[in-house]
Amino acid sequence: MYDLVIKNVNAYVGRRVEEGIDIGISDGKVASFSKNIKARRIIEGEGLFALPGLIDPHTHTVFAGNRSHEFALRAEGARYEDIARAGGGILATVKATRTVGKEVLYYLSKQRIYTAIEQGTTTMEIKSGYGLTQEAEFKMLEVINLLKTDMSDEIDIVPTFLAHAIDSDTDRVKYVNDIIRMLEKIKEKSLCEFVDVFMDVIAFNKDETERILTKAKELGFKLKLHADEIEDTSASILAAKMKAVSADHLLKASKQGLEELKESGTVPVLLPATAFFLKESAPDISYMRRLALDFAIGSDFNPGSSFILSQRWAGLMGIQLYNLTVQEAIDAITVNAAKAIDREDIGNLELGFKADVVIFKGNSLEEFFYNISFPVIKYILKHGRVIREYK
Ligand SMILES: [Zn+2]
Repeated sequence: MYDLVIKNVNAYVGRRVEEGIDIGISDGKVASFSKNIKARRIIEGEGLFALPGLIDPHTHTVFAGNRSHEFALRAEGARYEDIARAGGGILATVKATRTVGKEVLYYLSKQRIYTAIEQGTTTMEIKSGYGLTQEAEFKMLEVINLLKTDMSDEIDIVPTFLAHAIDSDTDRVKYVNDIIRMLEKIKEKSLCEFVDVFMDVIAFNKDETERILTKAKELGFKLKLHADEIEDTSASILAAKMKAVSADHLLKASKQGLEELKESGTVPVLLPATAFFLKESAPDISYMRRLALDFAIGSDFNPGSSFILSQRWAGLMGIQLYNLTVQEAIDAITVNAAKAIDREDIGNLELGFKADVVIFKGNSLEEFFYNISFPVIKYILKHGRVIREYK
């Protein structure tokens, strides 16, 4: 007896579309494709399409405050870098996030995560980085870990420490030393799995980034990098050298940078929603294709440069702004996104994978994006259990 069977459903299994199959689920996993199996619950899949639960490998979901005025300033022609240099940007969110207590931060973030779940996200990476001081970074990491525990029936959360910015009145050398000491304490308390650095012209330079990543690696953290977003600072080359799990943004990454990512097995994470809000042009997708790089897509949800916390929308933006095919966009928010957070048991509906499933109204893969205005999602399964059911 299986726990659940989805009958006669079209599904995306192992990077290909299967029509009219039965998916048997047992112990939270995809356990059978046999016809006529018995199960405690049956979902009639006729007219529905099953996708692996969506994975968002890059978010900044925990923060306080509101930067809508920057959105308005950019609409009047201001550039993101200029706003940041004038004391807005990340440092504005740092101020707001430091001001609130843990409970407020937890509540604000939980509401956002519910929104993502409703749009089909079953796994989400969340970064710190709006605290900067040890006290405030620990507050963020503790909130992320609380959410991870409290929401574990509905979503898997992957915590990341992010070295995000340098306060204008802080000595850079001293701050990098502070971060290195912070990492030791974060390790002691097991507060995160990944360490990420924003390496760019308005954030950490190459030497600073390399020092932080080297220490993080020594301590056994997995690595990520905000790489080559505003300018090509050879961050993707450093990500490859450090064997980072992922290198994210890559708007300005060079051909050499992409080649080295391929060589090191570092997953490129594209963030087209950010390019949309900042009116930036696409990275070198055709060269990524030529190298057969398996790229992922993240929402990059944050209060300054991406307000989309929906992988369905982020995938659509990949198609429209980065010229991805429908299948590339689906792979980018499922199977390749799993690689970007170093997971081997999600992002795919083949046998043995975790039964995190999004079932939407439609017969083909493309209808998921094509019908963007319509609430097409019918069921969301997490750990093999139905956690959302819509009309
Ligand atoms: Zn980011």
